[in-house]
Amino acid sequence: MPNKRKLGRLATIGYRGPKRIEPFNRIVECILGTQTWYLCRTLIADVRYSRGSRCKDFAGSNIRDFCNDAGLGYLWVPELGNSSRVLPWMPQDSEADQAADMLVRQIVDGQDVVLMCACHRHKDCHRTNVAELIVEYLADIAGRVIPVTHLGEDEQDA
Ligand SMILES: [Zn+2]
Repeated sequence: MPNKRKLGRLATIGYRGPKRIEPFNRIVECILGTQTWYLCRTLIADVRYSRGSRCKDFAGSNIRDFCNDAGLGYLWVPELGNSSRVLPWMPQDSEADQAADMLVRQIVDGQDVVLMCACHRHKDCHRTNVAELIVEYLADIAGRVIPVTHLGEDEQDA
């Protein structure tokens, strides 16, 4: 692996936001609000166990279409979903480990990754644990610990 290769970045977002139902465009605004992230270099990794949602923007394959229309990459990764709804989340099987490895490789390749779930606050959501796992695996592979940004939350929430 080249020493100086630039790693991608890691963030999380909850699509419910401060109001219970938020449109897809809030995701785009949160990413653009960072000033340094570009839609075309960002992969939305949907870490919901199920894509059933009352927010129709995020239900089923609608979310993939919205992402693609906005120029965002999109991947549904149910292997990293919280099927047990227990926190802290831990990888339960080799599929979860493989899926985390796959996202680590994306970051090693320079791709920015946003872990997306429904929950508003990252502290109440397994996406925080998924992010920690990815940071740990990435440190093993790349020898660097990268920060995790939680998009769309007030500073006092972070
Ligand atoms: Zn969640």
